[in-house]
Amino acid sequence: MRRRDIGIIGGGASGLMAAISAAQADSFNSCKITVLEKKDRVGKKLLATGNGKCNLTNLSFSVDNPEQYYRSQNTEALSGLFQQFGVQDTLNQFRRMGMLVMDRNGYVYPLSQQAATVLDTLRFTLEEQGTEVVTDCAVERITFSGTGRDTGFLVKAGGEDWLFQRLILACGSMAGEKKVDYGGYALAKAFGHTILRPLPALVQLRCAGSFWKGLAGVRCDARIQLLISGQGTQERCEEQGELQLTDYGISGIPVFQLSRFAAAALDAGGQVKAVIDFLPGFQENEALWQQLVEEKCASCHQRSMEVLFSGLVNKKIIQTAVKLCGLHMEDRAERKNLPAIKKVFALLRSFEVQVTDTNPFANAQVCAGGVPLTEVDAHLESRICPGLYLAGELLDVDGRCGGYNLQWAWTTGYIAGKYAALSLEKTARQREKGKRG
Ligand SMILES: Cc1cc2nc3c(=O)[nH]c(=O)nc-3n(C[C@H](O)[C@H](O)[C@H](O)COP(=O)(O)OP(=O)(O)OC[C@H]3O[C@@H](n4cnc5c(N)ncnc54)[C@H](O)[C@@H]3O)c2cc1C
Repeated sequence: MRRRDIGIIGGGASGLMAAISAAQADSFNSCKITVLEKKDRVGKKLLATGNGKCNLTNLSFSVDNPEQYYRSQNTEALSGLFQQFGVQDTLNQFRRMGMLVMDRNGYVYPLSQQAATVLDTLRFTLEEQGTEVVTDCAVERITFSGTGRDTGFLVKAGGEDWLFQRLILACGSMAGEKKVDYGGYALAKAFGHTILRPLPALVQLRCAGSFWKGLAGVRCDARIQLLISGQGTQERCEEQGELQLTDYGISGIPVFQLSRFAAAALDAGGQVKAVIDFLPGFQENEALWQQLVEEKCASCHQRSMEVLFSGLVNKKIIQTAVKLCGLHMEDRAERKNLPAIKKVFALLRSFEVQVTDTNPFANAQVCAGGVPLTEVDAHLESRICPGLYLAGELLDVDGRCGGYNLQWAWTTGYIAGKYAALSLEKTARQREKGKRG
């Protein structure tokens, strides 16, 4: 059996940060730390982040109102965690490890704009610290053994038995993974933790309608409102930004930001509608829009639909809206067509579609759900099993797009690693004292 001090299950963003932080907190420099990673390399997901550039944090974050950036059933705990290790601490930590960063409107990337730089920085630091990293090592079962010399977390993985004094679960989620695997959640559950149902978040939305093929490929600025109804409640949330239309529905950053609400509502059997305003610039001046519509209608005599609506929005959107209102692009504007023409104008401002599903976990950037924050303390130690720590996406927190999810991984990894090491030291001191006394 291999006896080690701290075991970290999962070599992703939070697990690697936990290993680094544990070594930093270990004042005697004697702590034996091992990261067990099921894949053939650590940090594979990191390489895919930010389209290969890794948006590692965001300068807009404010510790005073974390609920603006993160969703969780227990947002009250968030401030305290970010106060311990926040955005500036992340920047300082990476700087100490030798990595320079750049920011674009608050979105922070490595100066090289290569996600590989972030992973290399973490890997090189682990090597310098002498942290053991074992890959191709999927942990399937952990038990707590409470007998004498063998007290600790017994892990069977990679054909070996390991005994760890402290254990950090940093298994992440199945977001972005080809295979849906609840394994990490199962490890936490085996210790008695609750798992709030994981659902895809930061993901595309699939919508009803036979017109999507005709819209695929369009990118445009739009405001998207989600109207959610279910069990006697009505909710509304909205985002504006670059919308991407696909052959099955809607995508793009504003859709990603809204998707976790759609996922939760659909999962609970609710109804979700998306209402798209393709001309959001007029929201500030609806009178101008009305004037424009009236002018167009007044002067449209005998113009074709193609000419009448030309230049307002992408042509594919016009073609779809015209067709949905029972017209053809070559139809001439005549008195009898006026009601349908007005409907087209209205549709461009309020294009309503039924959301039927989200894309699967493989397309999602994060998962909503996981272990509730109420089941860990301010040091991320399990309230159910002392000595066990939890970090990263395994916990019930999902952030907005923009570097917030990696920031969550750095914050929780740092705290879990630090306090796992400090609690080990405390136990060693108490043992020493006991021997002397
Ligand atoms: C395509 C994509 C792009 C993204 N872009 C960004 C971005 O630009 N900015 C941002 O902030 N966030 C981004 N994210 C989200 C971010 O990557 C995650 O929130 C973050 O990686 C979570 O860190 P983690 O350590 O909790 O989990 P992970 O990084 O997923 O790491 C968990 C690790 O545990 C391992 N593991 C799981 N179970 C076991 C087991 N039983 N035994 C051993 N090992 C195990 C996994 O193989 C994995 O390596 C993106 C995600 C995706 C999918």
